[in-house]
Formats: sequence, C-alpha cells, structure tokens
Amino acid sequence: MVDCLFCKIAEREIPSQAVYEDDEILAFHDINPVAPVHILVIPKKHIDSLEALAREDEQLAGRMLGVIRDIATEQGLDDRGWRVVVNTGQRAGQSVKHLHFHILGGRDFGWPPG
Ligand code: AMP
Ligand code: ZN
Repeated sequence: MVDCLFCKIAEREIPSQAVYEDDEILAFHDINPVAPVHILVIPKKHIDSLEALAREDEQLAGRMLGVIRDIATEQGLDDRGWRVVVNTGQRAGQSVKHLHFHILGGRDFGWPPG
C-alpha cells in the first residue's frame, strides 16, 4: 500500500534490523524498544489491523504465531514469561495501520496494561 511505513519496510525501501523473514512474514527490532526484547512481526501483505483480518488471512495469522514462538525462543525468552501485544485501532493506540504483533520480553510486565 502506498505510504504505509511497514509495507515500505517489508519491501526493503526503508531499512530495518530484521531477525526473521520468509515469503509472507518479516520480523524486525522495534525502533523505540520498550523492553529489552521488542520485536515486531508483520505480514508482508498489507492488512490494516487485526480487525481487518479476512478469513483468507487466518492461515497466515496462525503461522505468524508459530514464528513468534520461534523468535521468542531464539531471543532467549523462556518460561519466566514474555508478552505479545496487538494494538488494534485508535483506543488501543495503534499508530501504524499495518497489522503487527509486538513481542516483548526481558522484564516483568504489569496487568492490566495501561
Ligand atoms: P503501534 O503503536 O502498536 O502501532 O506500534 C508501532 C510500533 O512501530 C511502535 O512501537 C514504534 O516504535 C514502531 N516503529 C515505528 N517506526 C518504526 C521503524 N521505522 N522501524 C521499526 N519500528 C518502528
Ligand atoms: Zn502496509
């Protein structure tokens, strides 16, 4: 999609620190980390948000969860715990309108989130 930051990152028009890539998925370090491990996992195809996920995208979304688990393991996150966040829409503070999963780890997290 024109003028989408994460589409440009997926197309390598804008550089990122990638940690995983396949034909459908890219994962890279968040530019403004809020935890010792903070990685974003995106579909390469443009999907606005989790709310916009179509039935045809569900297999991809499921595969993304497996990729997230593998990245967490690779990053040394373990059974002490870690978190996945998908901010969806304005009230949740979604700032980039291209579906992304935050992997957060390496510290304690509070609940409920802010
Ligand atoms: P959200 O607020 O859930 O939409 O998350 C968007 C995330 O994208 C934030 O954590 C930003 O720090 C991150 N971000 C913005 N621009 C970049 C970039 N160029 N490279 C990596 N992460 C970015
Ligand atoms: Zn996009």
